[in-house]
Amino acid sequence: MLERMQPLITPPLEELKNTLGKAHDLGMASAVLNWEQETYMPHGGANHRADQLATLDLLAHQTFTDKRVGQLLEELKPLEADGDAQSFDASLIRVTRRDYDKATKFPSEFVEEISRAQNAAHFAWIEARKGDDFKGFQPHLETMFDLARRAADYLGFEDHPYDALLDGYEPGAKTAHIKTIFADLRQQTLPLLKAIQAKGDATDYSVLERSFPVEKQREFGLKIARALGLPEEYSRLDVSAHPFCTHFGPQDIRITTRFDEHYFPMSLFGTWHETGHGLYEHGVALELNRTPLAGGASLGVHESQSRLFENLICRSKPFWEHYYPQLEALVPEVTKGVSLEDFYKAINRVKADLIRVEADEVTYNFHVMLRFELETALLEGNLKVADLPEAWNAKMQDYLGVTPPNNAQGVLQDVHWSSGLIGYFPTYSLGNLLSVQLYNAAEAKLGNLHQMFGKGNFAPLLEWLRENVHQHGRKLLPDEIALRATGKPLEATDYVNYLKGKYSAIYGL
Ligand code: ZN
Repeated sequence: MLERMQPLITPPLEELKNTLGKAHDLGMASAVLNWEQETYMPHGGANHRADQLATLDLLAHQTFTDKRVGQLLEELKPLEADGDAQSFDASLIRVTRRDYDKATKFPSEFVEEISRAQNAAHFAWIEARKGDDFKGFQPHLETMFDLARRAADYLGFEDHPYDALLDGYEPGAKTAHIKTIFADLRQQTLPLLKAIQAKGDATDYSVLERSFPVEKQREFGLKIARALGLPEEYSRLDVSAHPFCTHFGPQDIRITTRFDEHYFPMSLFGTWHETGHGLYEHGVALELNRTPLAGGASLGVHESQSRLFENLICRSKPFWEHYYPQLEALVPEVTKGVSLEDFYKAINRVKADLIRVEADEVTYNFHVMLRFELETALLEGNLKVADLPEAWNAKMQDYLGVTPPNNAQGVLQDVHWSSGLIGYFPTYSLGNLLSVQLYNAAEAKLGNLHQMFGKGNFAPLLEWLRENVHQHGRKLLPDEIALRATGKPLEATDYVNYLKGKYSAIYGL
């Protein structure tokens, strides 16, 4: 006898998961093409690739924003309210709704307008930077800030239009909170920077520029990335013009770096920075994959992981007590006549300079605060784009005591504004602050971490990070991660104390 056929109806949660899985796969396929474009694609392939990416991104967007997804989210509302907010189902509905609401708030004409304006602004910025021509870029920048204001109106906000933009990169973060944290950070680290500058610096930094064959840089950088915990089976390292980390799921992590035979810190610390990003993605619970819960919680939390590995581990003295003998054995011509102490000083040089991406741990946040202050002033209407170069240079002088000789090395140096990334910059500093706050919480639990680094043992710290940060993916908001893992909201204190301790010792203050 034949069993009676079950009706072919998929339960709503299964239907939702299927659709989200498809949208996710399309997004990951697009990420593969992006990665390949930056690493291996011949230059001339750019037009083909642009078409392919546009098609995939459109399909992913259409799949995710389909009206049916909205209906399913409505049907599944009771699941969201039920029981444990951290359960898989409740988190899935909550986070998907957040993303869906955001993705469907802009009318399609506005999306097209943004896309066209970004394209034009990006090419104008490349030309403007080449020719040091701010006036050529100014109308595009005015458009970008005008679009940002309109975007904030579409997205909605309570206190400050910047909140709406910030939320796209750092969910839940508020402009007022960042203003408070930054004021504290500025007030407490400016005297430290001035003291370092007043002290003068007789260190010989030439070790950083000695010839260090690229193949050996790669070997050493990768060996340490593996020792930090990035498994060979699930990751690879390649070369690109601008280093980045991407992933196609927690079991396929791609990091890139770039090499300069005569400046090894670029490739080594770049590799270890991206290793931190990669370890985060690799540690996201596998069950979250193919859903909006996959991936890092925010740009700030992501940066906390890269900075923790790059700076708190790989620029620490005990780390080099363990690895310096290995470096000496690998490239004796580089380390010849340089003591461990001198090497440690050289890789921790503090120098107030013009370019953000080259800045050290003490000066980096000033570059970010400056941009945040200018962005908020522009949005508030307290500053005009035409007056931006002057405002930029005045702040550089105030904070770092340097004035850019031209706009190319000043207000035109970053790609962000030309790509419409307004509200993005603060996440770099939030990441710096969070890295130390997490580190201190881990140390309170695990005991002296420097002692472990001195033996090349990073596993207990990685384990703690997996448990408290990585595995949760996007289930928790950045503020919730800070509060649960460290017992307090994000603040400047831990970072300031870290800087004071480390750099007072290095500079003998
Ligand atoms: Zn990063």
